[in-house]
Amino acid sequence: IESEMDPVPKSVDPSYQGSGKLDGKAAIITGGDSGIGKAVAIYFAKEGADVAISYLNEDQDAETTKKLVEEEGRKCLLIRGDVGNEAHCQQIVQQVIDEFGKIDILVNNAGEQHPKKSLLEITDEQLQKTFRTNVFSMFYLTKAVLPHLKQGSSIINTASITAYKGSPGLIDYSATKGAIVSFTRSLSESLADKGIRVNGVAPGPIWTPLIPSTFSAEHVGTFGSTQPMKRPGQPHELAPAYVYLASNDSSYVSGQMLHVNGGEVLNG
Ligand code: NAD
Repeated sequence: IESEMDPVPKSVDPSYQGSGKLDGKAAIITGGDSGIGKAVAIYFAKEGADVAISYLNEDQDAETTKKLVEEEGRKCLLIRGDVGNEAHCQQIVQQVIDEFGKIDILVNNAGEQHPKKSLLEITDEQLQKTFRTNVFSMFYLTKAVLPHLKQGSSIINTASITAYKGSPGLIDYSATKGAIVSFTRSLSESLADKGIRVNGVAPGPIWTPLIPSTFSAEHVGTFGSTQPMKRPGQPHELAPAYVYLASNDSSYVSGQMLHVNGGEVLNG
């Protein structure tokens, strides 16, 4: 089955109306320039939050996202650098505190994956880099943010369906996503009595720039077709899950992964 995909990922459903669920909040979103993070940044702004976007590459994406956030009447701070570097993560937090005066929401979403390989083909360099970007960044940034979080704050980590199903060509990547699930569970238990919630989202196949940049044309052509809904998701179909987990609507929810994957039923 061929997926019918618009080449441009859809960040916004035009019928979505914000209702002030994040009014006055300040959020950090890593990888907020592109794909899932971009949609989350726009939806958070639609719900009333100011957003700081951490991103890696100097291209038009960050500026475009900033413009869309500002069109919602919210502030947007762009911070470029590698979140796999602890000093940079501390710098992100300092800049956000200087600019917004507080942090209420942290979305650890930046991630990388590499073209499919067998275990024996995964170099040490790739292994180190994937873990640095996907896992170490989450430790570094969460550690730096934690002293600033007050009761009612929310941390949301982007995991993946691959943490649950495995993925033969993405062994390093899926292992990082398993680590994100475990981190989410462990940290949530240690922060629950402080009123700080830690949850995650486990996306299935989502049509973002990550996909054509790392998968073969053949895989891209059928991307998402094996899901029960027989299609990939669009970034705007993920963003409301993050709004829910960031807002007071999920005040009694912590340590959980929200699966947004086109209907695949998974354990855990
Ligand atoms: P994307 O490539 O559009 O966005 C990822 C962004 O992360 C990049 O634009 C970049 O700015 C940022 N980033 C990457 N490395 C970084 C670094 N070292 N420092 C700072 N920023 C960095 O991809 P996406 O699909 O939107 O991915 C977002 C998250 O969703 C990732 O964690 C990814 O693993 C996860 N995910 C994606 C899918 C999917 O099918 N697209 C499925 C499951 C999980």
